[in-house]
Amino acid sequence: MAYYAGIDIGSTTSKAVIMNDLGELESHSILRNSYSLSESGKKVLLLALEKKGLSEKEISYIISTGYGRRTIDFQNEAEPEVICHAKGTIEIIPTCRTIIDIGGQDSKVIELDEKGVRRFQMNDKCAAGTGRYLDKLADDILGIKVEQLGEFSLKSKKSIFLSTQCTVFAETEIISYLSRNELVENIAAGMHYSLAKRVIQMGKAANIRFSKDVVFSGGVAKNVGMVKAIEDLLGEKVIIPQEPQLTAALGVALMAKEKFRSI
Ligand code: ADP
Repeated sequence: MAYYAGIDIGSTTSKAVIMNDLGELESHSILRNSYSLSESGKKVLLLALEKKGLSEKEISYIISTGYGRRTIDFQNEAEPEVICHAKGTIEIIPTCRTIIDIGGQDSKVIELDEKGVRRFQMNDKCAAGTGRYLDKLADDILGIKVEQLGEFSLKSKKSIFLSTQCTVFAETEIISYLSRNELVENIAAGMHYSLAKRVIQMGKAANIRFSKDVVFSGGVAKNVGMVKAIEDLLGEKVIIPQEPQLTAALGVALMAKEKFRSI
């Protein structure tokens, strides 16, 4: 049996997927990045190999993607993220026509048609449209772990309005709400709506139509409060992959299998 690996080195986490000749998933791993992206890229692959008792020599082809895709030197190829997200998402949800991916320090909206990526828009310049916005405000201002923010916000009866688009100014606004004894769950809900609005507006400004089926991926898709905010603003249900952080790594693992077979 031959094996292939896809590695997605994001700005916050690294992900690896090992696939076999039959296109079956053998193993995967997700690792929070250390200061060194190249080290994290290597480590995440070793973790996935270890889970299955495989060695690096048994991997026939490796493709990397993500922000840090060129920081490692043991891959056969590196591919840009958007096509890898599209490839992996279509593999698990073939009816997908729109991808909303929100990661630690970037967000993307991708429109698909039968042939693949039709158009996309990305924000990797400003924290306010990314997971960092929630990470920072939850941790620094609300004193809640970001993993708990979603469940917490579902208790809210209303959501506060945050007028600013900037993470730094949002801190000031939230502190002011707290000083007026606003409930923390209402603030959390307001943060989710603010981020969801920003990402949807980014897509709409690029003429993306948010056609069905809409798939929400990336680490932020694990946040049930964000899922609710996006569904409320779009007026429709979105699909969350079982492992929402793995879609791009799955896409490159598939590419690795196909490329190797065509060599
Ligand atoms: P990237 O690929 O850009 O490195 P990810 O797609 O792995 O990033 O997403 C990282 C983001 O997902 C972080 O902002 C993190 O807080 C958020 N996240 C990860 N797991 C959870 C969770 N269980 N609940 C809420 N947010 C989460």
